[in-house]
Amino acid sequence: MQYVKGVGPRRAEELKARGIETAGDLLYYAPFRYEDRSNLKPVSELAPGETATVIAAVKRVQAPRFRRRDLGMIEAVFTDGSRAPLAARWFHAQYLAGVLQPGLRVALYGKVEFDAYQGGLIMLHPEFEILRGEEDEEEAGLHTGRIVPVYEAAGKVSARVFRNVLYRLTAALGEAEDPLPESVRRRMRLPGLAESLRGLHFPPPETDLRLLNAFRTPAQARLIFEEFFWLQAGLALKRDEERSAAGISFQLTERVREQIKKMLPFKPTAAQKRVLGEIARDMASGAPMNRLLQGDVGSGKTIVAAQAAVIAVENGYQTAILAPTEILATQHWLNFRRIFEPLRYNIALLLGSQAKKEKELNKRAAATGFAQIVIGTHALLEEDVAFARLGLAIIDEQHRFGVLQRKALQQKGVTPDVLVMTATPIPRTLALTVYGDLDLSVIDELPPGRKPIRTIHKTKDEIEQVYSFLLREIQAGRQAYIVYPAIEENEATALKAAQAGYRELTQHVFPGLRIGLLHGRMPAEEKDRVMDAFKRGELQALVSTTVVEVGVDVPNATVMVIENAERFGLAQLHQLRGRVGRGGAQSYCILVTDKLAETARERIRTLVESGDGFHISEMDLKLRGPGEFLGTRQSGLPVFRIGNLIRDHDILEAARREAQEFAARPPSREEYEQAMRYVREHWQRRYGLALVG
Ligand code: ADP
Ligand code: MG
Repeated sequence: MQYVKGVGPRRAEELKARGIETAGDLLYYAPFRYEDRSNLKPVSELAPGETATVIAAVKRVQAPRFRRRDLGMIEAVFTDGSRAPLAARWFHAQYLAGVLQPGLRVALYGKVEFDAYQGGLIMLHPEFEILRGEEDEEEAGLHTGRIVPVYEAAGKVSARVFRNVLYRLTAALGEAEDPLPESVRRRMRLPGLAESLRGLHFPPPETDLRLLNAFRTPAQARLIFEEFFWLQAGLALKRDEERSAAGISFQLTERVREQIKKMLPFKPTAAQKRVLGEIARDMASGAPMNRLLQGDVGSGKTIVAAQAAVIAVENGYQTAILAPTEILATQHWLNFRRIFEPLRYNIALLLGSQAKKEKELNKRAAATGFAQIVIGTHALLEEDVAFARLGLAIIDEQHRFGVLQRKALQQKGVTPDVLVMTATPIPRTLALTVYGDLDLSVIDELPPGRKPIRTIHKTKDEIEQVYSFLLREIQAGRQAYIVYPAIEENEATALKAAQAGYRELTQHVFPGLRIGLLHGRMPAEEKDRVMDAFKRGELQALVSTTVVEVGVDVPNATVMVIENAERFGLAQLHQLRGRVGRGGAQSYCILVTDKLAETARERIRTLVESGDGFHISEMDLKLRGPGEFLGTRQSGLPVFRIGNLIRDHDILEAARREAQEFAARPPSREEYEQAMRYVREHWQRRYGLALVG
């Protein structure tokens, strides 16, 4: 990098800190915006209302006389030798007083207006760039008088420096070799690599500015396509490799069928049957299963997982079930114990919080094979946890676990089948990238007799209405949840809020009702006791923190009140809402909020309007962005340089289609091998994901 003209060792360090290590990296450092600075005019020819670029020298800088100081307003006056000067004004920009030294030559870009207070022309908040004296004319022409790319500065490496360096770099490109397969390029009518890189940084003068800023010029689209194409080709390669490994061929015998029948507490829905069919087919095949099971809250994934477990156990293998929280793991354990009662399976539960002795006992049950099903949290992934014959790994709520954890669990068996379950539907763009190596099964039908939940938004000052509604439902024999949020993921504050709410409700609002309190800090037996009492209907209402978010299942509960709903994320609210609407009666979710900020209002509106988990997760992705959506940095989300999952989902679809077609029917052996070599060489660094082989 430091040998690229205009970079040098110091800038090379700054760039390296941003992950730009080679000239190649630099070429893919895309502008985040483009400005049309082609309307370059002398000050004397400016007219109010037009957007123009002006090159002029700083005459003086001052705080304007007529406005209050606290806006941090700075005004500068510029001249280019014309008779009239041009003023410019910036708010909250006091630092500019030190930057705009008199005599400095500057390019200003912005809308020209008539200054009614002082007379003369003025630009409000123009973009500007300082022009240094040493540059030649050609270089000056890079920054004004054309459509100009604007880069995010990297430390001391300014947009301007990027522009200079990239200009030289793209000019020197010549006809760079194009790694994208010719057949794909031709079919998609994509321009060549060198041409596209030049078009990304220095679009030709006639280019449509709107198209540029939407990243949809042919040059930009080709580079975005390319980035997605290699990811998808890599995923296709990974799938092929995983499928060619020797897995377990589970036998689907008559006995397996009988055992499943004996265990099933109800008739499965058509969707459940279909999905189980897909899973059973994978399990019976010699290749290892890698399947993602998606189904909205309450769609009945548990029983599907249980059926898969029967197949494994009846074939003499163990099943491991990984859950993200202790509450959920415990809930699964209770559930599975009940479900498997008729089959008398041994089920162990392994939690980080268990006493040492208890943990040892459970580990031994896994290691000796005594436990046919082992349920647990991250504790399952620890190195000293071993299985005698792990044949099936089920991971619940996958979006909270990374790819690495999936791998860690997989490695505890020889090549166990893997079933990943998620209740929060994953937006398609993410499903295609992060989980692109998994086959997909979807439960798109709720168990019979469910009515859509009515969702209502109320503000704090309407709480009396909420309470009287709640009372009516309870007097009609129903039950209710009242949930309090954690503030910044802090269970202690949630606990305080829930405890305060509990006191208020039991002492003042509903002194006559039987109300329970549930939170994460309670000892396990106590939690179980409270949950049991609620399940049996002894408690009419349950005040709780988000520990009820997942897994809790009480069909008679019809009201979910969520206090301070603005503090919850969309997915979490949807999950909480899913705790009601599990029986035949009409259910309600009431979102109680303070005054709302814009994004919070958007979240609440989304929930009120939609009960569709897929729609909600798409909105969630839009509102939070992919990184936030997935939660952790190790979530396996590839880092794209030009592509943007929200903006470019259409290109992602096209790239996936092309990559799959190319992998399945390559035009020639040679082209295929060349492309796959390219993926292997660039995959790891570009996308931070490891191939199996
Ligand atoms: P989730 O997909 O959210 O994990 P669960 O597996 O917890 O959903 O199922 C939600 C509820 O629906 C449970 O009470 C479960 O017993 C019930 N259920 C699931 N499938 C059926 C079915 N086919 N018929 C009737 N009830 C069902
Ligand atoms: Mg579940």
